Amino acid sequence: MADSAKDSNLLDKVVSLCKRRGFIFQSSEIYGGLKSAYDFGPLGAELKRNIAAEWWKVMVHEREDIVGIDASIMMHPEVWRASGHLAGFSDPLVDCLNCKERFRADKAPKAEAGSALVYYKGGKKSGEKVSATAGDRGYVCPQCGAQELSSERQFNLMFRTSIGPVDPLESFVDEIQSKTLSKAEIREKLDAAIKSNAIYLRPETAQAMFVQFLNVQQTMSMKVPFGIAQQGKSFRNELTTERFIFRCCEFEQMEMEFFVEPGTQVEWLQYWSQARIEWWKRFANDKSGFRLRQHAPDELAHYADNCYDIEYLYPWGWGELEGVASRIDYDLTKHSEFSGAKLSYFDQQKPDPATGKMGWRYTPYVIEPAAGLTRGVLLFLLDAYAEEKGVDAEGAEKTRVILKLNAKLAPFKAAVLPLMKKDNLPEAARKIVASLYKAGVNVSYDEQQGIGKRYARHDEIGTPYCLTVDHQTLTDETVTIRDRDTTAQERIPVTSALEVIKKRIAEA
Ligand code: ATP
Repeated sequence: MADSAKDSNLLDKVVSLCKRRGFIFQSSEIYGGLKSAYDFGPLGAELKRNIAAEWWKVMVHEREDIVGIDASIMMHPEVWRASGHLAGFSDPLVDCLNCKERFRADKAPKAEAGSALVYYKGGKKSGEKVSATAGDRGYVCPQCGAQELSSERQFNLMFRTSIGPVDPLESFVDEIQSKTLSKAEIREKLDAAIKSNAIYLRPETAQAMFVQFLNVQQTMSMKVPFGIAQQGKSFRNELTTERFIFRCCEFEQMEMEFFVEPGTQVEWLQYWSQARIEWWKRFANDKSGFRLRQHAPDELAHYADNCYDIEYLYPWGWGELEGVASRIDYDLTKHSEFSGAKLSYFDQQKPDPATGKMGWRYTPYVIEPAAGLTRGVLLFLLDAYAEEKGVDAEGAEKTRVILKLNAKLAPFKAAVLPLMKKDNLPEAARKIVASLYKAGVNVSYDEQQGIGKRYARHDEIGTPYCLTVDHQTLTDETVTIRDRDTTAQERIPVTSALEVIKKRIAEA
């Protein structure tokens, strides 16, 4: 089992495996790469799809009270004004005057007023050591520990682009070309020109579920409590992109807005926090690497009255994986206000608490489990990475790298390996592959190199089972099935291979 707290090189090892084996590549690598953007290679794409499919299964397919949507990434700009993203979706940025680091104030190490600070002048350890007392700023520079800091500035995280055939800069140039304007006036006109047809790449998938609340509720005759779920890409112009795919500018989310009766939000928040942490643990080897952390009142987002983060113990410490927020009626109320649409719900069976009369119209409260799919890929890779020391056939020491992915998440469910590339073994193996493909099982046919190397390759990419076709297969229609984690092998009839694999995956 991978113990992330013990192996300080774990992240580097996972990054290297991802590149070596085709899980994740740097975006546009041949051009020097695009910082903070990544491409999922053949195996990474499978892993990501499998995680997403398990989420969709448990959140949508197995529930009568939740339906899924797939909304467009581009939305009407008013959506972001109503949601508060245009005004408030910004990070507080600070510059360290001592070491020149630029960082997010809300993520910086805390320092209580009056506590002792020690740091190096200029930020370099070789500089003069300074002892100081923390003021009431509440935090220090994450790089050097000083509290010589600039004031906080806001930086909007949404990517802006424009829609329509008219280039906003064209009309701007026309307008200013014969005028003498001050810098501030030019800035103002430029801003107005850009904003005239500006749209934004969504920074979260959630807003579509609020905006389409009525359409979904009415077309599907949903009764509160009910949920709308969605998976998809989100974009944030993150100031600091860090730790491989943990924080990037383009990432995927799996979010669900669960609409509940006002007054029941506390129970539902408990329910979803528990349900969601259990879901993550279910697919991980190290269950102790997860915890729920309740937000302190000063940490809560403007729309939430309570929130739990599901955190994972990454190699660098605890960090967010999913947020489960109680968003009260903030979003539906705001979208009602801004759009004029009446985003409410009428319950005929309930008396209105204000009048006591049968029939109650109210704005539902919302519990939102918002998970990161991209971060989920990272977590399962970190959790699965393991090394085992052993000796090879010649007695030399060797390390076996194994990706102990849950079989449901593994890119390939099995590898089918002819022992040799002759004697009709490839033909017999390909027949098995064809029957597994037909049954919808994603398997790999692999005949390159010796069998030991092939086992090692599949251990490293997390293939849970290897079916080896040997000469005995040709006489008695059996194959060996090798287990990735134990390396134990047993012989099974070819005719039961599909059933055995399906059963083991179902039980994983
Ligand atoms: P953080 O505090 O790490 O910035 P957040 O609180 O802003 O995250 P949410 O807005 O709650 O994140 O988004 C829900 C989930 O989306 C997060 O728990 C995380 O898994 C994922 N996520 C958010 N931002 C990013 C990003 N830049 N890169 C990858 N995943 C992200």
